Amino acid sequence: MPLVPMKQILDEAAKGGYGVPHFNVNNMEQAQAIMRAAEKVSSPVIMAASRGALKYSDLIYLKHIMFASAEKYPRIPLALHLDHGNSLETIKTAISLGFTSVMIDGSLKEDGKTPTSFEENVAVTRQVVEYAHPFGVTVEGELGCLGGIEDGVGSGHSKLTDPNQVEEFLKLTGVDALAVAIGTSHGAYKFKIKPDPEKNLLAMDIIKSIHKKCPQLHMVMHGSSSVPSELIAEINKYGGKMAPTYGVPLWAIKEGIAAGVRKINVDTDLRLAVTATVRKYFHDNPDKFDPRDYLTPARDAMQKIIEERFVAFGSAGHAFDYKPMTLEDAKKFYRH
Ligand SMILES: [Zn+2]
Repeated sequence: MPLVPMKQILDEAAKGGYGVPHFNVNNMEQAQAIMRAAEKVSSPVIMAASRGALKYSDLIYLKHIMFASAEKYPRIPLALHLDHGNSLETIKTAISLGFTSVMIDGSLKEDGKTPTSFEENVAVTRQVVEYAHPFGVTVEGELGCLGGIEDGVGSGHSKLTDPNQVEEFLKLTGVDALAVAIGTSHGAYKFKIKPDPEKNLLAMDIIKSIHKKCPQLHMVMHGSSSVPSELIAEINKYGGKMAPTYGVPLWAIKEGIAAGVRKINVDTDLRLAVTATVRKYFHDNPDKFDPRDYLTPARDAMQKIIEERFVAFGSAGHAFDYKPMTLEDAKKFYRH
């Protein structure tokens, strides 16, 4: 099973000048959609589980669904990533489950809500790096606070990343990747007006400035679903009541990738695809009651979006560029 450390996927993405989407996974249909799409367009995969997803799945179900993905698709490089770890304890659990990458969100306290100081962030992140690297496991940190709340994670207020703190943070912690806050937020309700290059809703200058100071750093954009308006329209057409909203446009993500963003977190778009499909299905087929009947088109709808993201971010076609590394290989790397 080629479960690879996420660092390798990001290092290769940096060499190739592309970005890799991170998709959250909660159940079998999502995992299948991700892997089918990856196989079809030959992309490496970052499959992520949030604490909410692990709780929903009683840990063990999701673990085996993720492992099943590797077993079914042995040729696709696959990193299993913990999203928004909140403490060293959570990180230890994830590593014991077999994750090859962990995020420690030291921008917030263990409650996942209260913002921390720079020093507190450094302290917990460093602890996690010291614990994870000897296992060969990749670590993503976060500097600045993202807006929005998802699965109970978030302060509800954003604090943009200060580019002047990044170099010191990297030196003090040794993280492999860093989530930066540039005005994106978790969930479906990111922007009330449609972002366009003139309106400056996203602080792309922060990404560019960090890239200039730390060209080797793999930056991560969280909360980067594009919230396609046709999916919102479809949901509302079939009985939904979603307020008007806009996500992060693909052109903005591409601008980020050109300036050192290597991982782009996408979750909401898959949720919208499932909901739009199932709502329409129930409307068109009121006599149906077998979950397989509506989960099959829902899975297809997710796969379509996933393929589009692999292509748009540039990871499509790169699954077989390199020999997948094991955690054992990564252990040696960190010893140097
Ligand atoms: Zn996030």
